[in-house]
Amino acid sequence: MEINFHREIEILKEKISSAKTIILASHMNPDGDNLGSKLAMYKLLLNLGKKVYVVENDEVPTAEEFLPNVDKLVDSEKLENSIADLFICLDCGDLERIGRAVKVFKNAAFTVNIDHHASNTNFADLNIVDDKAPAVCELLYILIKEMGFSIDRDIATCLYTGLSTDTGSFKYDSIRPLTFEVAKKLLEEGIDKNEIVVNLYQRRSREKTDLLLTALKSLKYFNGHKIAVVTINNDDTKKTKARKSDADGIVEFIRDIDGVELAIFIKEKEDSYRISTRSKSYLDVSKLVKTFGGGGHIRAAGATLYKDYYENIDLAIKAVVDAAIKEF
Ligand code: 5GP
Ligand code: MN
Repeated sequence: MEINFHREIEILKEKISSAKTIILASHMNPDGDNLGSKLAMYKLLLNLGKKVYVVENDEVPTAEEFLPNVDKLVDSEKLENSIADLFICLDCGDLERIGRAVKVFKNAAFTVNIDHHASNTNFADLNIVDDKAPAVCELLYILIKEMGFSIDRDIATCLYTGLSTDTGSFKYDSIRPLTFEVAKKLLEEGIDKNEIVVNLYQRRSREKTDLLLTALKSLKYFNGHKIAVVTINNDDTKKTKARKSDADGIVEFIRDIDGVELAIFIKEKEDSYRISTRSKSYLDVSKLVKTFGGGGHIRAAGATLYKDYYENIDLAIKAVVDAAIKEF
């Protein structure tokens, strides 16, 4: 394994060793890599005898509810009066994406940013950013090993989850030989593969199924069927009684249609439209969403369009599709 960041790893180890209180956070709208890296780090620091808090200000997706220590997540508001020796931000490209937790970040004595977004703004005192890593969980495994700390079954479960979800279950272009070396090491910790796979990929509530069916009814193609768009409006969400995270997976379903290179999912929220994009083989969606102030990776990216500018969902669709056609 080729290891970079030797100096940074030394500093991180020294900061962890001297810290008593540590706060962990990630980006809003949590996913497997976000929760996996936070909860892996939580368990590691707990094993080292630290006082650790893990921030989560949003709803945990059903798929990740099985993760060890998921019940320890706290809202950042509860931590606003505590001054941490160390704040570690994982899987978050910039300070805006950290949401309300930014207040706690600013109070910390020392801040660390461990990430894999190419657009990362190096916003912390110590920045360890590897945009070649398909998941922060892969990078975090390397960092833990290099610091000489040991991995237990809970940590391995969390890291494997992030590795699996951020690679689309080991399918995306971003995977590399190291990904499988890390996966092998994690499997050797005796993790329950079946529990992980069933939770991540083989369960769907009736409400979530209804939401998927509703979204599929809105399917429209553009650009000679290379672009597929689906939408969910607030009425759909209410009628299906779906949870916020029940929209996870819809955009991937659309991407998988033969001939579709770009899938766009638009979900109406109170004052905005959330845009989720996925590409299959050649389109860089991180470039596409930049037009709208969003970000992400080459094959998966997102943005928010505010209703002040886009009064209805059709205008939002038109704006994103027009911008997308230019990218082809
Ligand atoms: P998703 O479509 O699953 O919400 O997000 C896909 C990827 O894009 C994730 O890596 C996520 O962090 C990133 N992403 C989604 N929305 C935004 C956004 O509004 N701004 C930035 N910078 N990244 C985003
Ligand atoms: Mn990630």
